[in-house]
Amino acid sequence: MNDKISCKEFKHGRIFTGRLPHGVDLVQSIEDFCRDASINMATFSLIGALSSVTIGSYDQTQQVYVSFSKHADLEVLSCTGNISIKDGSPMVHAHIVLADIDGKTFGGHLFSESIIFAGEIEIQELSGEQLERNHDTTTGLMLWNI
Ligand code: ZN
Repeated sequence: MNDKISCKEFKHGRIFTGRLPHGVDLVQSIEDFCRDASINMATFSLIGALSSVTIGSYDQTQQVYVSFSKHADLEVLSCTGNISIKDGSPMVHAHIVLADIDGKTFGGHLFSESIIFAGEIEIQELSGEQLERNHDTTTGLMLWNI
């Protein structure tokens, strides 16, 4: 196994900043935007509020995601991630930290379905050789093929 970081070099592409739609799934809305804007590689960050969320963490022994959903008024304190190609389409990988109405925080790997109440996103396109996700036998995860 390689013990060094595997990278490709990219240049800045287009930068998009905008408002998230109300009442739809967060991951799906980002993937739809990227498909429509022909974005294949990007990083993004967003803040806002969700009316429900599905998050999880990876059980490294069982090699499965363990997830749960919560329906509540949730503040998105931080959500960052990237976009790359999986099975020919833009795929979001994102992690999120949320706060409930009492300011209690929790977070994890972001899944659908997570319904947007409101939010603002910045997407930074990366131009260069595309990274694609493939099954990694060591971790069981869909990792970049570099
Ligand atoms: Zn993750």
